[in-house]
Amino acid sequence: MKIRIEHAQCVGNARCHAVAEHLYPLNDDGYIAIDGFEVADGEEKLARNGARACPERIIFVIEDDGEQSWPPSKA
Ligand code: SF4
Repeated sequence: MKIRIEHAQCVGNARCHAVAEHLYPLNDDGYIAIDGFEVADGEEKLARNGARACPERIIFVIEDDGEQSWPPSKA
């Protein structure tokens, strides 16, 4: 499972960081500092919760089969 982040669209409210500081580090200006990561075994739930916490929905969850499971695709 992977996380991909459209960090250019981050508005810096730190909701992701509040859920999991070590997975979602912020830069000195308070915006998300990374554009994604491979989720370590055992951290899937935390990574998903961080993604769901982003009100901008710019944190994408990519499953091992390559499918995006979050955010839900718009109909
Ligand atoms: S929750 Fe979303 S908008 Fe807020 S800091 Fe994290 S990535 Fe940026």
